[in-house]
Amino acid sequence: MNGPLSSALMQRSLRSVWHPCTQMQHHEATPLIPIVRGQGAWLYDADGRRYLDAISSWWVNLFGHANGRINAALKDQLDRLEHAMLAGFTHEPVIALSEQLSALTGHVLGHCFYASDGASAVEIALKMSVHAWRNAGHTAKQEFVCLQGGYHGETLGALGVTDMPLFREAYGALVRPAHVVASPDPRQARDGESAADVAARSLAELEQLLQQRAGHIAAVIIEPLVQCANGMAMHAPDYLSALRRLCDTWQVHLIADEIAVGCGRSGTFFACEQAAIWPDFLCLSKGISGGYLPLSLVMTRDDIYAAFYASDMRRGFLHSHSYTGNPLACRAALATLAIFREDRILERNQALAGSMTAALQPLAQDPRIMHFRQRGMIWACDARITDTALAATFARRFAAEACRQELLLRPIGQTIYLMPPYILDGDEVALLADRTCRVFDRVMQGT
Ligand SMILES: *Cc1c(COP(=O)(O)O)cnc(C)c1O
Repeated sequence: MNGPLSSALMQRSLRSVWHPCTQMQHHEATPLIPIVRGQGAWLYDADGRRYLDAISSWWVNLFGHANGRINAALKDQLDRLEHAMLAGFTHEPVIALSEQLSALTGHVLGHCFYASDGASAVEIALKMSVHAWRNAGHTAKQEFVCLQGGYHGETLGALGVTDMPLFREAYGALVRPAHVVASPDPRQARDGESAADVAARSLAELEQLLQQRAGHIAAVIIEPLVQCANGMAMHAPDYLSALRRLCDTWQVHLIADEIAVGCGRSGTFFACEQAAIWPDFLCLSKGISGGYLPLSLVMTRDDIYAAFYASDMRRGFLHSHSYTGNPLACRAALATLAIFREDRILERNQALAGSMTAALQPLAQDPRIMHFRQRGMIWACDARITDTALAATFARRFAAEACRQELLLRPIGQTIYLMPPYILDGDEVALLADRTCRVFDRVMQGT
């Protein structure tokens, strides 16, 4: 399928680049696609073929590739200051970003700690939680709770709160595992159970654990509203408010990992807003820089910040990364926040989401599809597949056929999902919906 220019780049890449989360041998059958430029929702390969980036390049891109406003902000910043260390020094972009994010939480989460990738933000939240309890004299609180199917990144600390059999099997021996409680994923419903029953069961399981272990548990970590890596498992905002109450009752921190669902993806800027709660720690990454540069951060409350504020170095938070608070990444984030305000993105996305949901009705109604669901700018459904050979290869076949139909789509197991940038026009909505249906049809027919 690759033309001559793409083929040459692919061969060079396969010789020297080890690609992420990839069984490299699969590229003997599936071509690797060399991208040379992006514009709006589209990526272009070396031979000029185009792909609609319907998963926002792994959930990071919000306002399209080569966005004029973000590009201009970065070019301006590049001529002022590319980087300066953040220990002992500070700079306007990191200050302004912290102020603006804090304001978006009504200043409840008034302190921002920076890193570069999502997994590091998760590790920071975990360390901060345990250290805050320790500083308050609760040295036994060192354990964590995560949800079944939860995903919080792939470094060793983050893997401890990630419940994915594939990772557990390979790296389990390296990891300090968290307590895992049932997910509120409605697809886990047993006979006669409603979605609310599944959520209640998950909460009851957590409460039972807290009754026994709260004195040893520092924090519960969750992905609010959508467990994305767990096949876009969605739960109701009520679940979050009940979770917040449980954490308050049993004196454990709540960590909201909004790395994927934050920045408007769930419909509100922060997913937690839909439950009218704030966590003790909120992790952001992915979309915060508009999908331009690695940037992550953890937001937390005054009382937690205060627990570290002392003359003794050992009571301070002991964590740093070389590129902490990188000014270029912060400028990209500031330009991203400016677009949210100036273009009233959250309002506009409601209309966009409505037309996308309408356009996807043929897929939603297809008898070979179940659990069609949507939250904000995320759409997902599960293919009914009985053939085991097809089930095992569905995601790869689907991704390959999607490329032939000019779409970048990568199902998770049998879950097909769309997580496009927020800039699709009417033609792109129609094209994305029609082609997604066509791809599904072809894969199910085995052509
Ligand atoms: C992607 C993701 C992470 C990890 O972020 P990286 O930048 O890939 O390390 C953590 N949590 C959630 C919910 C994510 O979607």
